[in-house]
Amino acid sequence: MKEREHYIIPIFVPHLGCPNDCTFCNQKSISGQTKRITKVEVKKTIQEYLKSLKRESYKEVAFFGGSFTGIEKEKQEELLETAYDYIKNGKINSIRVSTRPDYIDKDRLKLLKKYGVKTIELGVQSTNDYILKKCKRGHTYEDVKKASKLIRRYGFELGHQMMIGLPESTKLDELNTARDLVKLRPKIVRLYPVLVIKNTELEKEYENGDYEPLSVNQAVERCKELYYFFTKKKITVIRMGLQSTDLICSPENEKSEVIARTIS
Ligand code: SF4
Repeated sequence: MKEREHYIIPIFVPHLGCPNDCTFCNQKSISGQTKRITKVEVKKTIQEYLKSLKRESYKEVAFFGGSFTGIEKEKQEELLETAYDYIKNGKINSIRVSTRPDYIDKDRLKLLKKYGVKTIELGVQSTNDYILKKCKRGHTYEDVKKASKLIRRYGFELGHQMMIGLPESTKLDELNTARDLVKLRPKIVRLYPVLVIKNTELEKEYENGDYEPLSVNQAVERCKELYYFFTKKKITVIRMGLQSTDLICSPENEKSEVIARTIS
């Protein structure tokens, strides 16, 4: 039987809920959005997507960017409730959110459960504490382990996001991260080669010559190996590389927020 097409309705919550400043991140640039999102915008986005999506397809609202479970509870409820209304009336099938490993606990998970969230993606980036510290992630591998176990125990689908080419990260470090992640049994994985974005600490490191991005070939090779590794373990790699937008495009484009890139 033919599988139903799966569509994502992306809603960006730029830097909301994240007091952190990872050296590679300028969330406002990445999502191309700086204003605070409200339920009116959530509704508008869902309605617009629904007009163009096939009725029989599987539709999922995804809150991306920022750290969803770090947003104040009232705001989370406002956004989730708006999306949940569409689950209740049968117009969408599920909700997914992305967040940080240290923003997962029982109360937060209960809230997500209440509003029909199915999948939680954790920004792991690396399981090497030295590398995590180097890029100022503000969490440890231990946080990743605890959060992943709790997410699975509460019956959510677990996703992991990892980065390729972080400062001082070698191919072996990345393979070790992949091995560590497999043990935590995610259902899906995203692989993000590092992009050097304007107005980030990493941009300064790059300009000073302290950080050298991977070449396109190196990034492709590393992603390819990890892709095969995860696939063999029956973990689906749902994306490699950030989605290209008007701001996330070739560094040669003067309007681009990207200073240097590792993949084309
Ligand atoms: S935790 Fe995520 S949103 Fe926050 S600064 Fe780091 S990468 Fe950006």
